[in-house]
Amino acid sequence: MNNTPGKIRIATTSLAGCFGCHMSILDIDEKIIDLVELVEFDRTPLTDIKEIGECDIGIIEGAVANSENVEVLQEFRKHCKTVVAIGACALNGGIPAMRNHYSLEECLKESYVDGMGLDKPLIPSDPELPMILNEVHPVQDVVKVDYVLPGCPPTADMIWDALTALIEGREPSFSLDEVRYD
Ligand code: SF4
Repeated sequence: MNNTPGKIRIATTSLAGCFGCHMSILDIDEKIIDLVELVEFDRTPLTDIKEIGECDIGIIEGAVANSENVEVLQEFRKHCKTVVAIGACALNGGIPAMRNHYSLEECLKESYVDGMGLDKPLIPSDPELPMILNEVHPVQDVVKVDYVLPGCPPTADMIWDALTALIEGREPSFSLDEVRYD
């Protein structure tokens, strides 16, 4: 897909995340009309485009928990000039990384055997399924990240301020009050 001249092209994805950070993007409310004047969206759950093209900004929600997450993340890094990790899951593993306190074997047993009250294991093993990683990783463990927006999720105002700064070629900066990790 060709870029529209004068417009910043943005891709977004959710790895191991809950889409709450994407909901926070939509929470910019009526400013979304200003945003679509300035940008066009490439691969993102908002457009349902599946293949990423050449982009200016790639926004990553979620942690890295399986082989598909790694592939998607590497594709984003390859095709996006600037990569922005948003939310606690992307920054430090967040809620998905709570499973790092247990072995993968223990997690699978709890999820697919004990937790379901089964006598026989029903652990999914279709070769088409992504391989689950032994541990959940933050995004920067896999690729270089240019900017991070903390929070669970980051506020809509913080996302808007960061996006407008990047679109205008400025460095995003935030007051201490704006930076939150909850
Ligand atoms: S940081 Fe919070 S809102 Fe964002 S994907 Fe993770 S759990 Fe969901």
